[in-house]
Amino acid sequence: MKKNKIIILGAGVGGLTTAIALHQKGFQNITIYERRKTATTIGAGIVLWANATNILDKLSLLNEIEKVGGKINEMQRLTKKNEFLGAINVNEIDKKIGFQSLSISRKDLQEILIQKIKNLNIEILYHHKATEIKNKAIYFDNNKTVFADIIIGADGRMNSVARKYVNGNNKPVYQNFVNWIGILESDEPIFTENNVLDFWGCGERFGIVPISKYKGYWAGAKSLPLNSPYKKEDNKDILIKLFGHWSSKIKTIIQSTKDENIKYIEVFDHNPITNWHKENVCLIGDAGHSALPTSGQGACQAIEDAFHFSNILDIENNMEEAFIKFQKLRFEKTTIITMAGRNFAKSLFNTDREFCEQRNKKALHINYQNSSIGIAELWSKGLPN
Ligand SMILES: Cc1cc2nc3c(=O)[nH]c(=O)nc-3n(C[C@H](O)[C@H](O)[C@H](O)COP(=O)(O)OP(=O)(O)OC[C@H]3O[C@@H](n4cnc5c(N)ncnc54)[C@H](O)[C@@H]3O)c2cc1C
Repeated sequence: MKKNKIIILGAGVGGLTTAIALHQKGFQNITIYERRKTATTIGAGIVLWANATNILDKLSLLNEIEKVGGKINEMQRLTKKNEFLGAINVNEIDKKIGFQSLSISRKDLQEILIQKIKNLNIEILYHHKATEIKNKAIYFDNNKTVFADIIIGADGRMNSVARKYVNGNNKPVYQNFVNWIGILESDEPIFTENNVLDFWGCGERFGIVPISKYKGYWAGAKSLPLNSPYKKEDNKDILIKLFGHWSSKIKTIIQSTKDENIKYIEVFDHNPITNWHKENVCLIGDAGHSALPTSGQGACQAIEDAFHFSNILDIENNMEEAFIKFQKLRFEKTTIITMAGRNFAKSLFNTDREFCEQRNKKALHINYQNSSIGIAELWSKGLPN
């Protein structure tokens, strides 16, 4: 199969890491098709948890990521009035998995992946929006049609053409909350500690993630219907109205972020599907199993997919068998993560005052050491040694 023509649809985290992983295994004929006009990326930052940095190490990407990523020590939970509720010990998770969890801007991550792709001479064809997959071919909106032996659907959660082909439809599920995401950088120090701060309101949440002393990203979130009036308003004004009276750190962070670096996102995930492949098409990353940002694991799972997919395709001579084995290996873990993300979101975006009070009281009594170990156990499932 090493000479098979492989097309990867989508140059996101999943598509790029899959191309790198397949190349490492000796696959020679890989092309990536991407609808965007250039290598730009939307979004602020992400945490590459230790399960993802484990894989990035295997893909020889970790050295570059460590240069620009920030080590996270704790994930602190606080009320909107800055009362401490408890903290997930990220160092404990990292110790159990054997790698560091690193926060990174989307732009930096994208640049590292794209540079690697260039070094490996893998072609990315931008400005190619797939419209349909049929009879082993992909049809693009520029009238091009391309045939491939293997098509990897890495075209994300919202409009995946590959998912539509495999599953018969592609219907992401709106989970009744929105995110305003932002990224900021300054010449003056902004952050003193490498801790994620997770402020809980009632139907509202604000998270702050430092990357370095001078750089970090954040997300304000609120339970809202689709197309709410907030969508059309000035992001910063609204954020100050909603979160400006919470911890003073939040107000400063919002005010210090440039308007053009703030985005409003309606948040969707997917119901898990039990079939990720059809004929020569296999889904990876969000196209196969998108989880909410509250899972913290979407990109990390796409990176794990890349590693396992390439390993299985390397060993297995029969394409269909390879796809079956890949899904079998990945279904349970990704489904648990998707459902955990939904459950956490249900609790965070519940608007009932009584519920929120009880939730915060319970949070005070959680055994965070055990929680950290439980998270590490789940995230380390299926990882290479
Ligand atoms: C606010 C927010 C915060 C998050 N934080 C984290 C985090 O901290 N940690 C984490 O692990 N995950 C996080 N995630 C999830 C993570 O962003 C996704 O799971 C991850 O980007 C999935 O990667 P992907 O490559 O599968 O899809 P994407 O990154 O969506 O890439 C899909 C690519 O396919 C292209 N494409 C789409 N349709 C077509 C088409 N028809 N033709 C050609 N190209 C197409 C798109 O342009 C895109 O480049 C977060 C998500 C959100 C929304």
